[in-house]
Amino acid sequence: MPKFDLYDGHRDLMAHLKGFCSKMRGAGGKEELLMAYFRLSLRGTALEWYTRQDHSIWYTWDDLVQAFACHFQYNHEIVPDRLSLTKIEKKPSESFREYVFRWREQAARVDPPMKESEMVDYFLQALEPTYFGHLVSAICKSFNEVVKMGGMVEEWLKSNKIMSYSAIKTTTQAIQNVEENFHPVGESYTNLFHRLRQLDMLRPIESKLPNPPPKNLDYSMSCEYCSGTLGHDTEKCWHLKNAIQELIDTNWIEVQTPEAPNINQNPLPIHQEINMIETVH
Ligand SMILES: [Zn+2]
Repeated sequence: MPKFDLYDGHRDLMAHLKGFCSKMRGAGGKEELLMAYFRLSLRGTALEWYTRQDHSIWYTWDDLVQAFACHFQYNHEIVPDRLSLTKIEKKPSESFREYVFRWREQAARVDPPMKESEMVDYFLQALEPTYFGHLVSAICKSFNEVVKMGGMVEEWLKSNKIMSYSAIKTTTQAIQNVEENFHPVGESYTNLFHRLRQLDMLRPIESKLPNPPPKNLDYSMSCEYCSGTLGHDTEKCWHLKNAIQELIDTNWIEVQTPEAPNINQNPLPIHQEINMIETVH
């Protein structure tokens, strides 16, 4: 009696069938013998499946193999090709190293084998945008160097030295959403602030830099509304935009924008800003 490798329903079924047949051939395997012994090469879910079947409908070995292959075909091993390598993504739960290991395992199975430069090429294409952006310059380097750089990017992400692409996207979208919620003022926020300040409707607010200040703070900009606080300019100041929006929402000021021309068809061109805003109260 040949000693079979037992198939549990999870591995490559073609490999199992080949192995089984070659062992049976050694034992002078006829079709009836193949059918009789096949059961002995199964265990676990595969054996469970086998015992549940109606064996009376299997007249030939082919019938049995067909039923077996139909049921377990999802295990038929697909050898990765070059393109499929670019679709192996890093799971959020795995470290960069684990991901590289998994990716490289698949890359090793590609036929014909890849050169190192080709492997780097495909690996970069598989990376998510954050890693891709930081590693694309490594295109001419060795695979190991790329892996080392990837590890660094992972560290930077963890220590918040860099922002992930998806976080940047979310932030940008959030900013856009907020900006869309601001009523267009038809002139620059800086100008509007100057005029509202003259009318004593807005005064600069106390604003302090967070301590420690953000690493990427741009010290060349300062905001008049935030009493000269560095890092952003008056035009982009959220506090100012919010304050002006508040004045609009509470009807303290009325802004007439080119999109919403004033009802008297005021013929003055829009750059005559004094006509763009009226104090209601
Ligand atoms: Zn400000």
